[in-house]
Amino acid sequence: MDNEKKESTSFSKGLLQSEELYQYILGTSVYPRESEHLKELRDITATHPRAVMATAPDAGQLIALLLKLINAKRTIEVGVFTGYSLLLTALTIPEDVQIVAIDMNREAYEIGLPIIRRAGVDNKIDFIESEALPVLDQLLEDPGNENGFDFAFIDADKINYWNYHERLMKLVKVGGIVVYDNTLWGGTVALSEQSTPEAMREGRQRTLDVNKLLAADSRVQISLAPLGDGITICRRIL
Ligand code: SAH
Ligand code: CA
Repeated sequence: MDNEKKESTSFSKGLLQSEELYQYILGTSVYPRESEHLKELRDITATHPRAVMATAPDAGQLIALLLKLINAKRTIEVGVFTGYSLLLTALTIPEDVQIVAIDMNREAYEIGLPIIRRAGVDNKIDFIESEALPVLDQLLEDPGNENGFDFAFIDADKINYWNYHERLMKLVKVGGIVVYDNTLWGGTVALSEQSTPEAMREGRQRTLDVNKLLAADSRVQISLAPLGDGITICRRIL
């Protein structure tokens, strides 16, 4: 357990008050259920200088549960990095369907790709190296894509979350789910601007804005779950 702690957790305690409590959750409910390929991808990602960007495994576990609950088939992933949430999604959805996975930088994806191949799910992934917004716009040009997706996981540039949301409210069907990551921004949403580290101030402001907009959006039912760095689950109802 101690070993696992050091090797595999690139972030500490998420937003919980106690490291021990977080390790308890991971050790009891998350790691024993994590597939070997996901663990391998998590371990390899832990050696990356930007490892903290990877989706927290406890948040990932909830995402997999949501995918199953709605029987998700076609999904969108914005922000792939080394591919933890992407592999998780590919392992969870059925055989004959596809994930549109967008990242403007393919380099980190190349690290995870051999593991994704070994897991035998690379055929489910349509990786597009691009800024996400033009790709979503392009998808919308085909009327067949309107209401054509069951699920989206958004984990890239926070500055565009609301722009993504406007597109996703057309791409994801009513009853489908969009999950936004990092919606508590390291807990800084509850701090004053002055007490927020300089490097996090802009992100904090973006997050405050988007959280307010989502809370006021009657098109979605929402839940801001304090897992990982905060994930906001939106179910399209209109
Ligand atoms: N979901 C990933 C983590 C994503 S980190 C995981 O589970 O590991 C954020 C990623 O978003 C980075 O790889 C970065 O290259 C990408 N990104 C940032 N801005 C982007 C943009 N405008 N369009 C597409 N991808 C972007
Ligand atoms: Ca993230």
